[in-house]
This record gives sequence, structure tokens and C-alpha cells, in this order.
Amino acid sequence: MFRFQPYTLELRHRFSIAGSSRSTTPVMLVEIEKDGITGYGEASMPPYLGESHASARTFLSAIDFGRYDNLSLLEDILRDIDGLAPGNNAAKAAVDIALHDWAGKKAGVAWHAIWNLDGRHTLPTSFTIGMEADRDALRRKVEEADPYRILKVKLGDERDRQTVSTIREMTDKPIRVDVNQGWGDREHALETIEWLAARNVGLVEQPMAKEKIDDHAWLTERSPLPIIADESIQRLGDIRKVRGAYHGINIKLMKSAGMREARSMALLAREWGMKVMIGCMTETSCAISAASQLLPLADYADLDGALLITNDPFRGATVVDGMVQIPEGPGIGVTKM
Ligand code: MG
Repeated sequence: MFRFQPYTLELRHRFSIAGSSRSTTPVMLVEIEKDGITGYGEASMPPYLGESHASARTFLSAIDFGRYDNLSLLEDILRDIDGLAPGNNAAKAAVDIALHDWAGKKAGVAWHAIWNLDGRHTLPTSFTIGMEADRDALRRKVEEADPYRILKVKLGDERDRQTVSTIREMTDKPIRVDVNQGWGDREHALETIEWLAARNVGLVEQPMAKEKIDDHAWLTERSPLPIIADESIQRLGDIRKVRGAYHGINIKLMKSAGMREARSMALLAREWGMKVMIGCMTETSCAISAASQLLPLADYADLDGALLITNDPFRGATVVDGMVQIPEGPGIGVTKM
């Protein structure tokens, strides 16, 4: 049996992404049930990426699981589903995650173990500091981030240096900067990065517009900090475009259409000497637990999605002393509360 249900995540505090403040995120929760086993999946659909409850419903309604006798044949089934329509990467990810969960539970093994990865080989997650309205809001957010080891700070406007200076008055913790395509030209980007490098900033994500591949290559050649592609890449086929133009890539299940392709992306990026970040959207512990299975292949974790919401219906990956705990349970390691 295949079921899906629209759900809306409530953010603990409003925080802004790419300049727009919002306090909810639409998701679609998916369940695949067979042989007494239920696999859970999730599509997270922040509006700026173009998917919605309506588009996910249309896509998921076109899937006929009655065609498949053996749900463990993930390669075949997921290739079919990918071919049903272009795009719809989050909806595809929901099915991919639910099938992985089902097949892993059927085998009684966690996915990191199926992939021969050591689940103790985990990473600290960064915790997001948005573009706060004023200095007081920024200071409150930094206080809230106290349990976490690394701050991920959204930059990309005229207040950039002031934002980092305010944080540095409060803490010396490592900072990762996410510019969300916010810097207009490469000279400004390089100058700002050199300033940031002197202030214990560890990396810079997507400094300029995603189409500016040549400008990113110019910057990557000169930057004292690793430059990581986020908006410039979605799926496996996109990595070729950014090879040499960035030091690394941010892989998110909602962009890659799920765990199967995310793993291929991580392996290819490593093969090519690129750094791997495992990131997320605002998500429940379902998609976060699925993504956590890949952490032993990664250099950086940015899996704070479930920490930012008030109505998580799942229990799975947790964060203890700032470190992501990859769940040991079978499949993706989640239970529904
Ligand atoms: Mg980003």
C-alpha cells in the first residue's frame, strides 16, 4: 500500500532564506507498506524551489506500485519513477527514501551498513543563523546556537562584515558562510573571503549566481577558503559542470531525488578530489535520518533541518554534543511518534 499526506512544518523561529522570511514549510509524508513493514519517506518543498503539495500529489498519484512484485529492486523501480516526469526532485526523493526505508527494514539492516560505512564515523552539524532583522535578533540566535559546535551564517548583503563582527564579539566558534548567490561580482567576493578567512570562517557556500561558473572557477583558484556549490548543482549530471569551478558540493536529498543518487554524487565528487557536504532543507527527522546515512562519506554536515521545527512527527537521527548520531535501526532508522 502506498499513501501520501500533505503536512506543514512550523519553524521554531522565523528565519530567512535568500532574503524572504517565512515561518512554515510544506512537506509531503509518504508511506509504503508491504509484508507488514512500513517504509517512511518525505518531500520537503520550500516554495522557491517550485514544488508544492499540489505538484507532489500529481506526481505521486502517477506511481503504480502494483507493477512491482519485489520492492527491494530499488535500482529498477527508482529508474522507472525518475522517468515518469522531469523535475519533481523532492517528490521523487520522498519515494526513494520510503523505498530505502522499506528495503532496509526488510533486510533488517541500516543503510550505512548496507553501504559498508561505519556509522560511528559521523560529523558535527552546523546550526543556521539566518539574516536576522537587527543586532539583538542576531545575538539571540547566536545564544540559541550554544549547544552546537559550528555556526552556519547566511550572508549576501551590505551588512555582511557587521554580522560576522557581532558574532565574533560573542563566540570564537568556527563559522561557515552561506551566501545563497548574494555577491554580485568576483572581486568583491574575493575581498570579503580574505576578510572572513582572518576570522575563523571555514568555508563559503555559493558566493555568486549559480550560472556564473567561470567566475566561481576564478574565485576558487584564488580563495583561501573552500568554495562549495549549492544552487549550482542538483543531480549527478550537474557535477561535471562544476568540476574545477568549486572545491566541493553540497548534496541534499531534495535536490538529488533521494539517497540512491546522493550516494553516487558523493562517490563521484570524492573520486574527483572534491569536498562533500551533506545538507538539508527544513525537514523532519525522516529525511534528516535518511541523509545521515551518508555522513561517513562526507567532509561537512549541515543537518539542522529538524532542529528548527516544532512539530516533528518522527524520531531518528539526533544531535548530541553537537555531533549527528546516525541511527542504528534498520532502514533509515526512524520511528513514527
Ligand atoms: Mg546553501
